[in-house]
Amino acid sequence: MNATKDRDCRCLTCEKDFHYLGIARHRAAHRDKKESCVIMYTYGDVVRHDYGDPEYTEKIKPIDW
Ligand SMILES: [Zn+2]
Repeated sequence: MNATKDRDCRCLTCEKDFHYLGIARHRAAHRDKKESCVIMYTYGDVVRHDYGDPEYTEKIKPIDW
């Protein structure tokens, strides 16, 4: 894992890479468009965020430390 990499999160719904500081904003944009999205975070954990229940997330791939 290269800790200096700029874009270390990825939206699997859009197939786009994001800086870890930008992914939350991107996720909010999906929510604003009433879309669910699947996001891979810095350490490789993949989480599905469902529109309609902001608190609900489903971890698809567990973090493997
Ligand atoms: Zn996206």
